[in-house]
Formats: sequence, structure tokens, C-alpha cells
Amino acid sequence: MASDKRGPGLRIGIVGGGVGGLTLALALRQRGIAAEVFEQASELTEIGAAVALSANATRELRRLGVLDGITALSTEPTELIYRNWRDGRRIAAHPVHQDLQYQTRFGAPYCGIHRADLQRVLSGALGGNGLHLGHRLVDLVDQGDSTRLAFANGRLADVDLVIGADGIRSVVRRFVTGGEDTVYSGTSAFRGIVPVDRLPSLPDPQAIQFWMGPNAHLLHYAIGGAGEAVNFFAVVEGPEVWPHTGRWLAEVQPNEAASAFAGWHKAVTEMVGAVAHTVRWGLFTVRPLRHWSRGRTVLLGDAAHAMLPHQGQGANTTIEDAITLAELLVGVSADGIEAMLGRYQALRRVRTRQIQHSSRATNAALHLPDGPALETRDRRVARFPEDFGWIHAFDALHAVSAAGPASGAVEMAR
Ligand SMILES: Cc1cc2nc3c(=O)[nH]c(=O)nc-3n(C[C@H](O)[C@H](O)[C@H](O)COP(=O)(O)OP(=O)(O)OC[C@H]3O[C@@H](n4cnc5c(N)ncnc54)[C@H](O)[C@@H]3O)c2cc1C
Repeated sequence: MASDKRGPGLRIGIVGGGVGGLTLALALRQRGIAAEVFEQASELTEIGAAVALSANATRELRRLGVLDGITALSTEPTELIYRNWRDGRRIAAHPVHQDLQYQTRFGAPYCGIHRADLQRVLSGALGGNGLHLGHRLVDLVDQGDSTRLAFANGRLADVDLVIGADGIRSVVRRFVTGGEDTVYSGTSAFRGIVPVDRLPSLPDPQAIQFWMGPNAHLLHYAIGGAGEAVNFFAVVEGPEVWPHTGRWLAEVQPNEAASAFAGWHKAVTEMVGAVAHTVRWGLFTVRPLRHWSRGRTVLLGDAAHAMLPHQGQGANTTIEDAITLAELLVGVSADGIEAMLGRYQALRRVRTRQIQHSSRATNAALHLPDGPALETRDRRVARFPEDFGWIHAFDALHAVSAAGPASGAVEMAR
């Protein structure tokens, strides 16, 4: 559990006020450690997307005292269901909310929530204190015993520790690794949020469901306090080469999404057709990094390990990172920062790599053409709780205390 030891007055700058930055600031404050969060946006609003939070994150959000606010605005899926793309038959189903099976097994709930609602709960709990909106980081300067952060608005901040929670396009990561580490996955997605009452053909609208077919899949789950809307994410293979450098959205023709899912079950075509798709999202990851820190600057969340969304773990592993880093920072003084960062990397790198890898492998399994390989895939999705329970059962806070103090030195030497 959180220690009551006070931090020794380090100046901590968190770059990015997304899921990771806000969670970290809250977790630090709970431990009596002050931090400043610098966010480029002038308002905290994330339009048109949702996130599914699993037990490995919700147990931490409960410890931070924000889970009730989150569950009030979210929906726990009835079941996790895998379906055939064409006839919609149930290939496998696992109870989630039904008989509270998920919570009983993993010790915390599963919730689908609008990202704007999640951000509102986290920023509301944090309050305005220490949150600096309209601060886009443009440069970092190593000054030896401190780092100078330079923002586009002309402001400067000198800090003892920089935490790059600035997402997949991280400026801080470029400072840490010196290169460009994002990789295009060869897949892209159409996404949207649709009111349930516009989806008359959808069976089990309150479940989280994967519709799996040749070269594509569609995932959806309900969001909102009464499960009144469905958030969907429809992934297709291609384009082979992403058409833009530094841009993650590409314009599409009005019928492109519909033709990618032509011939699929009516529930799918209805959902994809309910949204006017003007863009597709390129799916990018961050290649596994050898080092997550440089001196007293460290990465967290998507900046460190952006992954494909097929295990639904980007935000969840980011929350794990934030709790781990906050707990490790308790009692650390300036000259202990680098050793502490070694421990952080040792605790986080292998796990996030495994989930990155598993998310990539899941893409291939979800996109198989009809044929004999489906049998193995169908057996695999039927074993989801047994095979992937390790992701959901993880307890980040427990992992810190279980690891002991020596782990970081070994990791940094690799
Ligand atoms: C379509 C889609 C669906 C997803 N679904 C899920 C899901 O169901 N479950 C799940 O766990 N994950 C999901 N994810 C992944 C999840 O959204 C991310 O992994 C998560 O948001 C990462 O959190 P973060 O804090 O690292 O980055 P973000 O939440 O992206 O936050 C980064 C913040 O940094 C700010 N920023 C960026 N650059 C600067 C700068 N130079 N200066 C100052 N501020 C800056 C940004 O404005 C932003 O607020 C999904 C992702 C996508 C794209």
C-alpha cells in the first residue's frame, strides 16, 4: 500500500496530462509528493473515443479513490464474446459481469468508459493545482544536476526529474533515445461511437465482442453509465505503407469503411455504416526500447511502449507504470533518482514487452481467412481467461514490494 513517507522536495515535471500523467500526479500526491503536469492542450477533452479498463488498472484506480467516480460513468460488459464475421455465431464466450465472475476472479471490475469521462474524473480528483494547460514541450536541456523544459508558450521550468507521459509521439522519447522509434503496423482502423438504439441487429449489445474475419476484425463494447452507446474499433489490414510521415490519420473516400466490411454480418455493417468515416487511423507502436531513461529523464505509458490495442492494454499498462513509478519515488532524493529509474525499468520493461508482443500476435489470429487454421484459433479464444489471466491479475503495487530493492542495478547494466 501507499507509504506515508514524504518525498524529499524533488522538483518533478510530468510532460503530458493524459491517462498516464494524471494518474501519476494523483498517485504522487497520495504519497505526499508534489509534481507539476505540463499538458499541451488548452482543455482536457478527448473526443470520440473510449477505453476499456481492466482489473490490473481498476484495482489501482480504487486505491487512488477514483474508481467509484469511474464506475458511475461506465459499463461493465456482460460477457466477452467472439463471433464469426459472416453468420455471427458465438465461437466462444466468457462471463464478465454475469455472476460477477470477472471481479471475483481478478479482484476488481472491468469497465468501458468514454475517454473524456475518464480524464474528467482523474483531473477532477487532482484539482487545478499543479496542472499547467497550454504548455507544449518543445525542448529539453540537460543542465547536469537539473533539466530545463522549454515550452512553445515561452515558459521555462527547471526540474530534478522529467517524466515523459507525452504519448506515442513523445518529444521526451526523442531526447531519451535520440531517434524515431515508432513503427507502422501495416494495419489501420475505423472507429466510432453509436447509440445502442441505432443498432437493431446487434446481439448482446452490452457485451464486449470481437467479430473476426478474413483480414479484418471489429471490436465493440458499451460505454456510459447505462450502457447507452457502443464504442467500436474496426481494424483492417493495410495500407501496406502509411501515406504520411508524422500523421496518424489519413483521409478516406466516403465508402471505404463500408466496402472493407461488405458481406459481413448485418450487426457489423450497421455499426460501421452508422458513422460517416472521413479518416482512418494508422496503428503504430513504439519498438521495444533498450533504455527507458536518460539521466534523470524517464518515459511512461505510450511514450515508452505504445502497443497495438488488441489486448486493450495501452491505458491499463500506463496506469500500472504510473503506480510503479510513484511508489518507487517515495523517499528518493536527487542522488537516488538514477538507481530508482533502473528499478522502474526492471519492473516494467519485460511485462510491457510481453503484452506488446501478445497484442501483435492477436492481430494475426483475429484476421485469419476461413480455413483449417480457424480450429486452432477458436480453441485459443475459448481459453482466453486461462491464457491471458496473467495480464488482468497483475498487481503493480504488490510487484514493487515483491521485487525488493536490488533489481534496478541489474537492469541498467544490460
Ligand atoms: C483507438 C484506440 C483504442 C484504444 N483502446 C484502448 C483500450 O480499450 N484499453 C486500453 O488500455 N488502451 C486503449 N488504447 C490505448 C490508450 O489510449 C493509450 O495507451 C493511453 O492513452 C496511453 O496513455 P498515455 O498517458 O501514455 O498517453 P495519452 O493518453 O496519449 O496522453 C499523452 C498526453 O500528452 C500530451 N502531449 C503530447 N505531446 C506533448 C508535448 N510535447 N507537450 C505537452 N503535452 C504533450 C497529449 O496532449 C496527451 O494529453 C487505445 C488507443 C487507441 C488509439
